[in-house]
Amino acid sequence: MYNSLSEIQKQLFSNQLSVEDIVNTYLKKIKKDSHLNAFVEVFEKEAKTQAKKIDFKIKKNNAGKLAGLVIGIKDNICYKGHKATAGSKILKDFVSTYHSTAVKRLINEDAIIIGRLNCDEFAMGSSNETSVYGSVLNPFDETRVSGGSSGGSAVAVADNLCLAALGSDTGGSVRQPASFCGVVGLKPTYGRVSRYGLIAYASSFDQIGILAKNIRDAALILETIAGEDGFDSTVSEKPVSEYSKSLELSKNHKIAFFNNHLNNKELDVEIRDKILNVFDYLNSLGHSVKGVDFKLANLLIPTYYVLTTAEASSNLLRYDGVRFGYRNENSNDLNSLYTNTRTKGFGKEVKRRIMTGTFVLSKGFNDEYYTKAQKVRQLIQDETNKIFNEFDFIISPTTPTTAFKLGAKNQNPVEMYLEDIFTVHANLVGVPAISIPLGKHSNGMPFGVQIISDKFKEQSLLAFADFLLKNLKFF
Ligand code: GLN
Repeated sequence: MYNSLSEIQKQLFSNQLSVEDIVNTYLKKIKKDSHLNAFVEVFEKEAKTQAKKIDFKIKKNNAGKLAGLVIGIKDNICYKGHKATAGSKILKDFVSTYHSTAVKRLINEDAIIIGRLNCDEFAMGSSNETSVYGSVLNPFDETRVSGGSSGGSAVAVADNLCLAALGSDTGGSVRQPASFCGVVGLKPTYGRVSRYGLIAYASSFDQIGILAKNIRDAALILETIAGEDGFDSTVSEKPVSEYSKSLELSKNHKIAFFNNHLNNKELDVEIRDKILNVFDYLNSLGHSVKGVDFKLANLLIPTYYVLTTAEASSNLLRYDGVRFGYRNENSNDLNSLYTNTRTKGFGKEVKRRIMTGTFVLSKGFNDEYYTKAQKVRQLIQDETNKIFNEFDFIISPTTPTTAFKLGAKNQNPVEMYLEDIFTVHANLVGVPAISIPLGKHSNGMPFGVQIISDKFKEQSLLAFADFLLKNLKFF
């Protein structure tokens, strides 16, 4: 199996391997493991045709820098001429008429998009159990969840169905499934990657993220898709560095961890102990690791769920049966068309979020919930800025536990929401964060550690993550 693009390209450029071979290998494995339910559609024919074209370009010496990269995309990212349904019945049969910026930039560098990956409906969930296509199974234990919402993306990379995948991360949806499946998951700074062509969930939180097997591949994909875009005014104009080229640690770092997070009763003891080992190792090398009290820790989840549901209720208004996807035909006037379409088209969790969001925005409650949550978000940002004035990184577990059993948490939404306890912080503040696999639990499941840095510090974040990943044997 292929483990990195550099390994692949070495063989491609010395004629030991062709892109066609690579595509065929992945297609075979996708068929063999289709029961995991990671892909909702495979672009088999197209991928084969593209592969031939890229092989020809390699011969002519004019292939793009991602030649040989076979990548899957989450079902909420638009790829012109292909379906994009966000795991929802309401977008069933919706075909995108344009490329998302991220996909366009990947294709321009000769990456091959091999298919659409399963996800929670409208990216709302932490277990990939809300998808209209059904759950994704964890390849390490098929009775357990993949994590979510980019569950298909994480499983596809972990199970070698493609080399890397795009996901989206609004509150942890790239990092949490990455942790549950033992792969790297990167959420860039808000505004680093264009959201053009990403089906919106909560626009002030959403970012396209990357799932990969190693840091260099993630860095290479990030430098390709990041940067200014006339189609998304929230994208930063800051120049994009060649992240993949300088992954060396440049200095000893100052690292913070939150005492409240590590003392959290929900945190698995083995995960906590392993993270403490990481701290010991870092200290022994001359880095400094210090615990801080983050007083707002208890407000992270409530603030996230008030604001994201509010934004979702507004974003999802557009699915009215008139312009996109599913339309309920048994309706005799406009109002019943709206009601029937939305009642039948959306799943239970999406409806719960729309109703919660509508409530927190409604007259009489707006100040108490939405406006207050906005203020708390500001306080969280201010507190976090203070930490980054003093420290380079914040380290925490990515998830409180390893992947749980299918069905174990979907009866109680609050229990599911608490899954995001360590990940929503980065989205509330807009800073980048990465989960890297830290090892295996005694229950046989992988788990990750999360590193967060200040805005637009992807270069040092990736270098530090690379260093940790390469030294796993020491802790
Ligand atoms: N689990 C979180 C939620 O349901 C995060 C989702 C995401 O990042 N897309 O909102």
